[in-house]
Amino acid sequence: MKPEATFVRSAAAVSDLPADGIPEIALVGRSNVGKSSLINALVRQRLARTSAAPGKTRLANIYRVQVAQGVPFHLVDLPGYGYARGGRSAAQAFDDLTHAYFARERRRPGQGAEAPSIGRRPAALLLVDSRHPGLESDKAAWTWLHTAVDEAAVVATKVDKLARGERIRALRELESVFQRPVLPVSAVTGEGLDELWRVINQLANSSSHPRRSRTHPRATAPLLPKKATR
Ligand code: GDP
Repeated sequence: MKPEATFVRSAAAVSDLPADGIPEIALVGRSNVGKSSLINALVRQRLARTSAAPGKTRLANIYRVQVAQGVPFHLVDLPGYGYARGGRSAAQAFDDLTHAYFARERRRPGQGAEAPSIGRRPAALLLVDSRHPGLESDKAAWTWLHTAVDEAAVVATKVDKLARGERIRALRELESVFQRPVLPVSAVTGEGLDELWRVINQLANSSSHPRRSRTHPRATAPLLPKKATR
């Protein structure tokens, strides 16, 4: 079934971000990793602007998505982080908007800054390029994400660009780096998209329930099956 998806807006600052309390799934990854292409492939329309030129935008693009009678949620496409291959900490890699996005207190729809937080944090998908497993910037992003979200999954993009042997090696390396199953996808061939939808639905449902404590964020649980589809 085709998901209902609309572009909500681009946000340059936290004040522009949606505050209606629906679950959020943040897409995090290096510039040019294929986030926009993946969004378009998932929703089967050209909602997101893709480009061959890296680092084109410092805005968060927000999409509202609903599949059949499922919970509506926002996909929040955060600005891509840089190309540095090593040495940069996660704190340097992410821009101010990304930091502010994850630090934001979330409140019930229609309630102002004085209202108590409902403690709902976004879930996240970390997108990594399957051709470049184990980049320091991706590892740093993953380490940092653990402090910022309760649930996350790792997705390996552009897997159509790898020959069979390369792909097996790359996925093995990725799973060793991230210590969890990694889902290979292609926006070009559509491979892995059904499985990614299952992960997204799980994330949307988990982030629609406020977590119990803000003081002890639990380590992200593996959301993908033990053996990812190859
Ligand atoms: P973003 O900066 O992360 O939003 O990346 P884009 O979606 O704009 O993609 C960057 C480049 O990678 C573009 O030239 C895309 O056509 C290409 N690309 C993205 N996804 C895929 C994929 O699954 N397979 C292949 N072969 N190319 C892709």
